[in-house]
Amino acid sequence: MARRVDNKKQYRTLWIIIAVILCVTFAAAAVLFALNYVDSGVDPVSEMRAKNVILLIGDGMGFNHIKAGNIYSGSRLQMERFAVSGEVMTRSLTPGATDSAAAATAMATGIKTYNGRIAYKDGKNLTTVAEMAMAEGKKVGVVVTKAVTDATPAAFLTHASDRGETQSIAEQLVNSDVDVLFGLGDEYMYALADSIATDEREYCTTFQTIADAVQSSEKEKIFGLLEDGSIQNFGANTLAQLTRNALTKLSAEADDGFFLMVEGSKIDSASHDNNMQAMLNELQAFNATVSACKEWAAANGDTVVIVTADHETGGLKVPDIKDASEAYDALLDFDSSDKWFTKTGHTSVNVGYYIYATSTTPIVGSVEAVDNNGDIIFDANGEPVMVDVVTGYAEIDYSALMDIPEEIDNTDIFELIKQWLLTE
Ligand SMILES: [Zn+2]
Repeated sequence: MARRVDNKKQYRTLWIIIAVILCVTFAAAAVLFALNYVDSGVDPVSEMRAKNVILLIGDGMGFNHIKAGNIYSGSRLQMERFAVSGEVMTRSLTPGATDSAAAATAMATGIKTYNGRIAYKDGKNLTTVAEMAMAEGKKVGVVVTKAVTDATPAAFLTHASDRGETQSIAEQLVNSDVDVLFGLGDEYMYALADSIATDEREYCTTFQTIADAVQSSEKEKIFGLLEDGSIQNFGANTLAQLTRNALTKLSAEADDGFFLMVEGSKIDSASHDNNMQAMLNELQAFNATVSACKEWAAANGDTVVIVTADHETGGLKVPDIKDASEAYDALLDFDSSDKWFTKTGHTSVNVGYYIYATSTTPIVGSVEAVDNNGDIIFDANGEPVMVDVVTGYAEIDYSALMDIPEEIDNTDIFELIKQWLLTE
């Protein structure tokens, strides 16, 4: 994404002239800026409306994580194929790199806070986009691969002056109106098990009971709190499957649309550990989940899928190796590629945003007609009778989205969701 500047020496004179012109221009602009309030945020894109918004957050997923994922999978990850993309600034009010609490708060509330705060600033709770959606009668779901009390899910559904107030966060989750909450349980949530199951809420602790409840429960809400270690990044028990279940449940209940936040939580943990193999596994699980959301949006229409990250973790630097198989071999030499991580903490580099959106315009295809027994119907000439069916929904006209700057702030993620989803 970074733009390259040509520094060739023969252009030095030209650059000096340009520099002088720019200095004069900037001085004039600075005066104008001082005289006028300039809003650098995302401009309202009022015509953009969607019934459903899905926000996918890859915790700790920087551009080099995605670059490694592209090499590993041998093709571009799903998010990189989305029509609209750019960069997100991630800093919080705390000097240095943001943590997940402050970054999730910025995306959930549109307000920057200090590290450690959960939808909270200066003694006040900050209303989240999930709470706003619920207040407008929309359904809300949250699906994560770590504890549901962790910073990212907590910042969309609860409020705390410190992310370590896990007891309070757990109580707030149980008392919240969130419709679908899937992730790992922890001692605080399990201690509240008796108050999780209610007349209107199922309480599940296994993948099978979650799937069964999604298919057949009369209750409108489901909490699925899995044991640690049970969310594998491959096979059937994946984040993608949990997310499909959440989409099925939310859309069955949601006449007025829904907001779903999905987090690939362990991309961050693997990067803290400088463990390339674990990072790639988590990233692949996240990528499969992005694909599942894209497929759902294409099949159901009127849905925006936003993929982003809260910050970069590990200072990952993936070398440029032109030959694809050499790059792949270098990546899979984990003793070496683990050292491509240059830090064990978070960094302040920009992360990406990627947008895919479907309209209400149906795509019509032609299929062979069948009778009640499922047998193909033939006409008098022995040719199969064809009927038109809706096979999916077209993408939106993205031209209206071109107003979104290439570089946005993490608080703008909130503004975008609000513009699409909320009336107020
Ligand atoms: Zn982290």
